[in-house]
Amino acid sequence: MTAVPARLERFFVADSPTQQLAARLRSAGHASYLVGGSVRDALLDRDIDDVDITTSARPDVVEAVVRPWAGAVWLQGQRFGTIGCEKDGERFEITTFRADVYRPESRKPEVTFSDDIETDLSRRDFTVNAMAIALDPADNDRFVDPYGGLTDLAARRLRTPLAPEISFEDDPLRMLRAARFVTTLGFEPDAAAIAAIERMHERLDIVSAERIRDELSKLIVADDPAPGLWLCSRTGLSDHFLPELNSMQLEQDPIHRHKDVLAHTIAVVGKTSPRLRIRLAALLHDVGKPRTRGYGPQGVTFHHHEVVGARMARERMLALRYPNDLVDDVAKLVELHLRFHTYRMGWTDSAVRRYVRDAGPLLDDLNELTRCDCTTRDARKAAALGRRMDELEARIGELREREELAKIRPALDGNRVMRYLGVAPGPIVGEALDFLLELRLEEGPLDEDESYSRLDAWARERGLEPKGAG
Ligand code: ATP
Ligand code: MG
Repeated sequence: MTAVPARLERFFVADSPTQQLAARLRSAGHASYLVGGSVRDALLDRDIDDVDITTSARPDVVEAVVRPWAGAVWLQGQRFGTIGCEKDGERFEITTFRADVYRPESRKPEVTFSDDIETDLSRRDFTVNAMAIALDPADNDRFVDPYGGLTDLAARRLRTPLAPEISFEDDPLRMLRAARFVTTLGFEPDAAAIAAIERMHERLDIVSAERIRDELSKLIVADDPAPGLWLCSRTGLSDHFLPELNSMQLEQDPIHRHKDVLAHTIAVVGKTSPRLRIRLAALLHDVGKPRTRGYGPQGVTFHHHEVVGARMARERMLALRYPNDLVDDVAKLVELHLRFHTYRMGWTDSAVRRYVRDAGPLLDDLNELTRCDCTTRDARKAAALGRRMDELEARIGELREREELAKIRPALDGNRVMRYLGVAPGPIVGEALDFLLELRLEEGPLDEDESYSRLDAWARERGLEPKGAG
């Protein structure tokens, strides 16, 4: 290779972190190459975050070489031959040349190492990820591309270095990685790869939930996730990690030509901003529809699909091993996604307070999801919804200025309630606090005197004799 693409220059600057690392490995008798996503992204003129390096050195040697040099070292990937480290702001993932094969029923790769770069590249997922550049400036055959990755890159094509059946059998996750690269790179799998996915998708069942989750997350936060989601749906691949997707395809209503829920869902995902939480909420917001479909006088109905859907979203995300706080947030967004539409008669202050309180820190995401959940082709309808959302947001803004909406709580705390009523801790205190919270939501902030006198009336109705605030 003659000219070095601009994005690669930093790796060849004398004494750069990358060159220091290569020199250290060389002193230990080992070759090293820039490889994988780093080479691909440099050729596409995209940013490179983690620098992928491959080397003939075994992981224990790599560790010994980087330990005294790197600022930080991480070993989570060591079992699979990967050592991670950081040096002067550059993050490296250093992988020993591989010749790995999955045992057919195992969930984790059985790693075996090889001594040459070509074998390593043949074990990579796609030819566009199977190019390498020697880091030794003295190496004359600097660019290594035995499988035609550069041609495929130019054609924006995903092709496996070996036959796709062998590749996907070795590691079925590669089928999902194909869908991921369809969205993140806008590339297309070749016909052989598609046919292999159609034939072999059940093999994904042997892959661990964590590995699937990480690919799914990368897939759905891409600028335009639709092509990858459609690929998963069309080939049947998603049936093995997100069966809810294709269930939504069955939701056409032939009589009233109700929109296909799957097409709607994928459109909504693409409209939301590319953050994981809201994208997952968009992906799962209507999963309750298939189970709640009914036919009423006005056509098809999906009563309480948001409640059923929130439960299903929770179960699915837990199965995919998403962290609990993210699961809670997404389930809540699914459960609240119709709330806006329940206020058909206009928004009272009390309704606005309840909406804000129930959404809590998810308020902005809930508003965005509600806006994006409108995929009608009827421009007048869409504009009307947009206006009503603007109104609600303006109302929230006004109320926020007048009241501290973020901190809605009863006007009196538990201690003051107990003192006033002259009671010990017990259920009655909780009931009194619930009453005061209701009051706060219904009427807004009340001053202390007013709060005590309302509490007084409430207590007397229950036959209590308050002791008073004094
Ligand atoms: P990104 O870093 O943007 O997520 P990437 O292509 O660098 O994309 P990584 O997961 O960082 O993906 O993997 C680095 C390289 O390792 C890939 O480019 C590919 O060459 C190889 N690779 C990763 N996962 C697999 C796999 N399951 N099977 C085969 N090769 C893989
Ligand atoms: Mg990478």
